[in-house]
Amino acid sequence: MKHKIKLEIDTAPIKSILNQNKKQIKLGLSMCAHCALCAESCFLYISNDRDPEYMPAYKFINTIGRLYKKKGKVSKEALEKMGELVFDKCVLCTRCYCPFGIDIPSLITLGRRICRSQGVFREYDK
Ligand code: SF4
Ligand code: SF4
Repeated sequence: MKHKIKLEIDTAPIKSILNQNKKQIKLGLSMCAHCALCAESCFLYISNDRDPEYMPAYKFINTIGRLYKKKGKVSKEALEKMGELVFDKCVLCTRCYCPFGIDIPSLITLGRRICRSQGVFREYDK
């Protein structure tokens, strides 16, 4: 029996954002040493019992990083989960510090842009 697959994700705008920012994303992913030093500079990580999902590196690696590795081909469910990381678990306060110079808030912002391009956003973000 054939199942009709509903395409919920429009990969064109995702690919466009990824291509425009390829250099920055690639550099961030390759430079991250997974040292977790950025974690202590994120007040949300500290105030949420050091939940790993609040770690700045976790947030960019599992959103824009994953989108980049999968060439934008992700499910709507995966995108919703990414939305939780970039909207609910980061306020873009820009306080996270990476000794390797990775601009984490900027990478998380790219994750937000991609989520928005697929209708994943928060009311305050309209
Ligand atoms: S401090 Fe920098 S290199 Fe270390 S885990 Fe965080 S983002 Fe990666
Ligand atoms: S920008 Fe996001 S990840 Fe960085 S310190 Fe602020 S809340 Fe944490």
